[in-house]
Amino acid sequence: MVSVAAPRDPRSGCDLLIGGGRLLDLDAAAGVLDGASIAVLDGMIVAVGPRQDVEAVWAPARRIDATDQVIAPGFVDAHVHLGAFLGAGGQPYAAATGPGPFSGAGRPEVVLPMVARMCSMPVPDELVTAVVRPVLMSMLRSGITSVVDAGSPGVDGLVVAAHELGIRAAIGPSLADLWHDEHGVLVQQADPESLLADAARAIDHYDTGDGCVRPVVSGVETMACSDELLTGIAALTAARNIPTHVHTHISDNSVRAHDAAFGRTATQRLTDAGMLTPRCTAMHAGSLTDADIAAFTAAGVTVNHNPVGNAMLGFGITAGGSVPRLLAAGVPVALGSDYAPSAISTPFEMIRATLMLHRDIAALDNAITLEQALAMATGNAGATLGLPGQIGRIAPGQLADLILVDITGPHHLATDHPIPALALHARASDVTTVIVGGYVIVERGQLVGVDEPALAASARQAYRKLAAHP
Ligand SMILES: [Zn+2]
Repeated sequence: MVSVAAPRDPRSGCDLLIGGGRLLDLDAAAGVLDGASIAVLDGMIVAVGPRQDVEAVWAPARRIDATDQVIAPGFVDAHVHLGAFLGAGGQPYAAATGPGPFSGAGRPEVVLPMVARMCSMPVPDELVTAVVRPVLMSMLRSGITSVVDAGSPGVDGLVVAAHELGIRAAIGPSLADLWHDEHGVLVQQADPESLLADAARAIDHYDTGDGCVRPVVSGVETMACSDELLTGIAALTAARNIPTHVHTHISDNSVRAHDAAFGRTATQRLTDAGMLTPRCTAMHAGSLTDADIAAFTAAGVTVNHNPVGNAMLGFGITAGGSVPRLLAAGVPVALGSDYAPSAISTPFEMIRATLMLHRDIAALDNAITLEQALAMATGNAGATLGLPGQIGRIAPGQLADLILVDITGPHHLATDHPIPALALHARASDVTTVIVGGYVIVERGQLVGVDEPALAASARQAYRKLAAHP
């Protein structure tokens, strides 16, 4: 008896093949690529091109039909305090400012002690994980595939939650050794050497090298770090070749307070400490002189901008209003949500706030373009995660962090072009599919394999425990 083997498919196997939608392509003059398919293998995009060409080479294990949808790179939230809910534990609602730990209109003498307290809160890891899971769930469902934690308590608990939910994340200790005492005087309150030793141990503990959760070490604020601590953060992150972030140049107020306290500018201190490198993200950094911008440009620093958080907290004229000047100087600007009373602002809100606020400040309706705003939420943010040039575009060699956005809703009626569709029309509820590193995390708007109501219930329970024992 002769056995006949099934004819072998001469094509290479890939994990996913996505086709049928309109691709956002900010590198193309038209901003869109139609009729293209994307092949994904081992977490990377391996091919993008005409459907028949891609299918001639790649035999997928799974196909995703993106008809009537926009396919875009996943969004990055380059600045969020995932544990902000923990810091808000038990805080009552206050008329005028609302609930939450960060009221104070950017006054450093109010904000720095709060942040220092929050980052050093002793919270059991399992409670941190429980409270942060729904935060990450909401972010994923709004199309965020990568997140940078800018300083939270319970780093180990954050790492567990990020692994469980499958979001790409940069997480690590946020350090401060100076903050204001009860009389409003800036004083040294922690030992830099032991902070740095603890930080090195913390990142060793969870840096498993699998690429999903990446370690960072950040400074709470330039003003909250002694020269010794800044120099130590720069040396530690250089030795590990990991990103570092520092809140800095937040508002005109904070810049004045910094310079009065130190007699040197924050840019000078960051430069002297060796902090300003392409691995560094200057968070907020809106209240900038031309000399500051020149120093950032020369050093290859990324600047993070948080339009909703800044405006909601009243930092002032969208916290310095330097974004168009930074973009003109070639500094990559990456959007973040920071802490806002709504706690989570979706990428769509961040993009629109960027457009509205900076166009209004400049009294020009092209002060920021839709393309610039979309790049700020995607490709500009690679360095904030230690992944420069590896995320934010749909091209071979990029990490396969992709979203599909339904554009059939009535609010999309005027256009199906990906740029206005995403920048002006789309809502979080239009996000149908979210892929991180080639894994389908969200499908039909729901997290795959996650009991979302149970997850939210366990978070509420954990939060009640925290609020009862602040
Ligand atoms: Zn922040």
